[in-house]
Amino acid sequence: MITLKNDDPEVWHAIQNEVERQQNTIDLIASENVCSPAVQEAQGSLMTNKYAEGYPSKRWYAGCGNVDTVESLAIKRAKQIFGAEHANVQPHAGSQANMAVCFAVLKPGDRILGMDLSHGGHLTHGFKKNFSGMFYDIVHYGVEKETGYIDYDKVRTIAKNTKPQLIIAGASAYPRILDFERFKKIADEVGAYFMADIAHIAGLVVGGVHPSPIPYADFVTTTTHKTLKGPRGGLILCKEKYAKQIDSIIFPGIQGGPFMHIIAAKAVAFKEAMTEGYKECQQQTVRNAKAMAQEFIKRGYNLVSGGTDNHLFLIDLHNKGMTGKDAQLLLESVDIILNRNTIPFDERGANEPSGIRIGTPTITSRGMKETEVTKIAECIDKVLSQPNDFRIKEEIRKTVRDICVQFPLYKKEAYQSVE
Ligand SMILES: *Cc1c(COP(=O)(O)O)cnc(C)c1O
Repeated sequence: MITLKNDDPEVWHAIQNEVERQQNTIDLIASENVCSPAVQEAQGSLMTNKYAEGYPSKRWYAGCGNVDTVESLAIKRAKQIFGAEHANVQPHAGSQANMAVCFAVLKPGDRILGMDLSHGGHLTHGFKKNFSGMFYDIVHYGVEKETGYIDYDKVRTIAKNTKPQLIIAGASAYPRILDFERFKKIADEVGAYFMADIAHIAGLVVGGVHPSPIPYADFVTTTTHKTLKGPRGGLILCKEKYAKQIDSIIFPGIQGGPFMHIIAAKAVAFKEAMTEGYKECQQQTVRNAKAMAQEFIKRGYNLVSGGTDNHLFLIDLHNKGMTGKDAQLLLESVDIILNRNTIPFDERGANEPSGIRIGTPTITSRGMKETEVTKIAECIDKVLSQPNDFRIKEEIRKTVRDICVQFPLYKKEAYQSVE
């Protein structure tokens, strides 16, 4: 980044510091991951210069031959890795993908049944201050207090009583397998569209470690930057019969020119997703989450639903006498990065909730396995158990540093090319 260093040292410095931060901390934020240098190169390319309103070979501007090539590749590969009939690779983010589906099939005031935000759902599934909560009549399902699992009979009862036009399955903080087939049956019974939002678990679906919603859902939306390991962006998959509707709601409905540099990077990421190494990484992500969850349980922590089937789990800190915010700050001070999170039926607000969320995508992409995740759980336990012992903090900071050196963010050559 020689040019940037010369032309804008302030931004260059911030980026260098971010390289250091990512390299030297353990990232357990479940929605983050590490994308490859190839993805970053495509994302950093001059395709950002190009206006390409429309779709491949149906553009409004001249000069679109090369961006047509990358968008066609991205579409073809997305369809291939998910086994989908149609793909729209233009959504700028997961939120835009969800907005597109809502706008495509609903009228303002229509009813959506989605997962409660405080039980693990997403803002776009009906939060009051989100477009979804502003434009639609929202009803929620959640998890059971005793088990932490979704009770599908209850979802069915709510659906029958409220008759939504759209049912959304998907979550940002649900550690268990989602039964898409069951959701589809419920949607059919009440005549609702069924959308699966797999923003968090898309990589697991491609890797074969979470059932795919493709056979059941009318619409599947996702981000491309979470477990999927691509650039920051969104993606919609649907049956061919909805293709025109979805494409025209993305453009010209809610977006203008697509981000062609991001779409190029999506194409690269989707190709990577076809490799054995990618599948192995997704499988290891789940193995790591399970091993780490087990270690916390052994050490006396309460996990929502008692464990995990996927890449994340939630720790209920009630019996530890601290809030999720306390834990987040404390762990940040020893270079372990995660986020506070409400737990289902939390009596505290979202700002100082009772839990933390832990995810294994980033550390798994760095090559960490069961040995390391067990060690990291031990580190977290030590710090949370003795929050005021600064010798312990010093010791943990060293252990974190050692692990980070042993598992570089990128293989040496690639990492150095960023410097
Ligand atoms: C992250 C997420 C989104 C939205 O993604 P953005 O790219 O941040 O807009 C949507 N749905 C779910 C379930 C998510 O976890």
